[in-house]
Amino acid sequence: MSDPLLSIDGARALILAEARPRTPVALAFEAALGRVLAQDVTAAADVPRFAGSAMDGFAIRSGAAGRRLRLVGESRAGAPFGGEVGDGEAVRISTGAALPAGADAVLQQELVEEDGAQIVLRDAVDPGRNVRAPGEDLRAGEIVLQRGRRLGPADLGVAVHAGLAALQCAPQPRLAVLATGDELRPPGAALEPGQIHNSNLVTLAALAEREGCAVALAQQVPDDPAATRAAIAQAIAAADVVILSGGVSVGPHDHVKPALEALGVQERFWRVALRPGKPTWFGVTGDTLVFGLPGNPVSAMVTFLLFARPAIAAIEGVVDAAVPGHVRLGEPLPRDPRRDECARVRIADGLAYATGPQGSHVLSSMALADGLAVVPRGEGELPAGTEVELLEI
Ligand code: AMP
Ligand code: MG
Repeated sequence: MSDPLLSIDGARALILAEARPRTPVALAFEAALGRVLAQDVTAAADVPRFAGSAMDGFAIRSGAAGRRLRLVGESRAGAPFGGEVGDGEAVRISTGAALPAGADAVLQQELVEEDGAQIVLRDAVDPGRNVRAPGEDLRAGEIVLQRGRRLGPADLGVAVHAGLAALQCAPQPRLAVLATGDELRPPGAALEPGQIHNSNLVTLAALAEREGCAVALAQQVPDDPAATRAAIAQAIAAADVVILSGGVSVGPHDHVKPALEALGVQERFWRVALRPGKPTWFGVTGDTLVFGLPGNPVSAMVTFLLFARPAIAAIEGVVDAAVPGHVRLGEPLPRDPRRDECARVRIADGLAYATGPQGSHVLSSMALADGLAVVPRGEGELPAGTEVELLEI
């Protein structure tokens, strides 16, 4: 009998079909770190723009050692020498200053003897010595950064060198997190019998921020139909991506699915052949993507990583989102007959080992992990030495 549940890849495909890049905005450099480029960046001119010195020293004509030259001026960074350097002449020059006309090399200070208004060269000098040629870094007209790239500090600097004053980027995705459950109490609160601390609100908001989102709303919601509907409506209004945790199964106190239906959020799937994370729900309303993640702390994190992370990258227009790596198992791992399993593993000597008990409530197994090993469904154990996909966490 074929498995009626969606595969991880099947679920991802349904999500990516709905995740469209948002309209780009022009961002000042101060606001662009971590954003995704929505334009190709082309160098307006050669960089360096002019031949310049790589050393503090003297701009001269190339030639033999031992020559005695007359100092005729100075070229400083930002204040070039206006004249020309002739035979028998030298111009004092600073690092980054323009090479004067007539000179074709720089001899560094350490290899020059100064004698009043004259200098003596202690080395022979080839043409081009200590000279930075125009265009060595960027060429005019060349594409130096491509659309779809997440901007790091060096990228921002390259764009400055390319001559830009602002960058067309995807807007920062706004994400809302709602954690449902009457049992939940805030961090540090005293617990009555049956209550637990609300870790999902913290872990899911942290994952969202790490993926570059602005957390527009993070709120706990009681297991009550009207409160659930109201909170979800508010989240949809505030965010591009809504993450709900808990209440998405079929128990008498699971109000998330009926609330989503009442609000007209269109279901794209519910339930994936995945462990942990089977009850995962996904739907859309307008441009907003809505994820109903299971409440168990490991399930919530794993399903965020598997499904919400690529969705966020897609609405930002990321090109070349992380390709999964691979790793060999250092020990046999049990298999689930019907569901692919994301095992929390640590990597030692290049091999993957389970981080301990893998229950979906054992969050410490996640904190200890270096990655998620995808153990395909099957009978019995997957033997040590088998190569499996390894997802970043
Ligand atoms: P649910 O998906 O609502 O049935 O919840 C499944 C399990 O996850 C239950 O044991 C819940 O107590 C637990 N759980 C639900 N929400 C959270 C949360 N925000 N933080 C920590 N554990 C939670
Ligand atoms: Mg619940």
